[in-house]
Amino acid sequence: MFNKKNITDIEVKGKKVLVRVDFNVPIKEGKIKDDTRMTAALPTINYLLEQGAAVILFSHLGRPKDEPDQQFSLAPVAKHLATLIPNKVFFVEDCVGELAEAASAKLQPGEVLVLENTRFYKAEKKNDPEMAMKFAKLADIYVNDAFGSAHRAHASTEGVAQYLPAVAGFLMEKEIRYLGQAIADPARPFVAILGGAKISDKIGVIDNLLQKADAVLIGGGMANTFLKAQGFEMGDSLVEEEAVQIAKELLAKGGDKLHLPIDLVLGNAFDNDADCKVTVVENVPAGWRVLDIGPASVEDYAKVISGAGTVVWNGPMGVFEMPKFAKGTFGVAEAVAASGAVSIIGGGDSVSAINQSGLSDKVTHISTGGGASLEMLEGKILPGLAALQDK
Ligand code: AMP
Repeated sequence: MFNKKNITDIEVKGKKVLVRVDFNVPIKEGKIKDDTRMTAALPTINYLLEQGAAVILFSHLGRPKDEPDQQFSLAPVAKHLATLIPNKVFFVEDCVGELAEAASAKLQPGEVLVLENTRFYKAEKKNDPEMAMKFAKLADIYVNDAFGSAHRAHASTEGVAQYLPAVAGFLMEKEIRYLGQAIADPARPFVAILGGAKISDKIGVIDNLLQKADAVLIGGGMANTFLKAQGFEMGDSLVEEEAVQIAKELLAKGGDKLHLPIDLVLGNAFDNDADCKVTVVENVPAGWRVLDIGPASVEDYAKVISGAGTVVWNGPMGVFEMPKFAKGTFGVAEAVAASGAVSIIGGGDSVSAINQSGLSDKVTHISTGGGASLEMLEGKILPGLAALQDK
């Protein structure tokens, strides 16, 4: 199943190892607000250090406009990393060039160097071969442990792998194993739960899962477009008119596999203080909008989830950021946690819902990559993985 070399397949002792991590963490006033992605990379970092490698870490952070911008600096990340491991952690204010090369040259086995944000250069996202070569100059070996960025063909995730021996880190391998297994050989019944704002982002995923899964449960804003395609009026709800036709096709293709909400929670404004009411799908009046799935739908979905062998969940069932419209999402989270199925959760919002519910230790795997896990569920090849050496 996982046919790529990992860090145990090569000699790293005394080598400079350049590790692409996904340290794209939320930062406020210089403090890391959630270090899940950092702790997820520690097994790889610690293994390399224990083996006597000098470890150089690089990552993107946020969306700087292709030039240095201090609000997106990795300096606070380096500082935080120093609190997570006993080893020396250095930071250098560039990710390529003289400064980075000098810092790498000085680095000793058992020490860590964090480079500045890779997206301070336009060449990164363009996957410019010269940029990739500059990264490669910093080390002897390249490791990709950034599952969350593996669906991007950038210089730090794909290009650099052409110029150095390139292998997977432990996090990358773990993510690919869980998701790959769920898609290729799931314990059945295989139930997929998809939510979130828009259907247009997830057409390919729904299409692929309708072939692979035994049931696909739909919630969130995207359910509105399906309900509209079935001929129901959706009042002031978010509906993607241009996707109604494709929703009709997916409904025809999905048949009994595709489950839609049978009742809904409406608000008379997009606001937690809005008036709200529960209604059946046939009865969404003008002036009201769908903001969550209703209690009967939660019950219906929970029944399907309780019998599942594998559950994959991506995207909230409603506007769960507002407590009045969060019951659908939290209800589904409870059903997944109680199911005893192999459960895999991806996507920032569903992950945050399961964490907020305090149920994260009841699920099998929480993915660190929303976009990357969606592309896997869509059946796509991840360029960051494809570029690594085969076993
Ligand atoms: P996505 O990024 O596509 O997974 O969408 C997540 C967002 O969808 C969350 O911020 C939710 O608040 C939002 N969302 C979920 N259900 C609805 C809905 N019925 N109407 C509008 N937005 C929604």
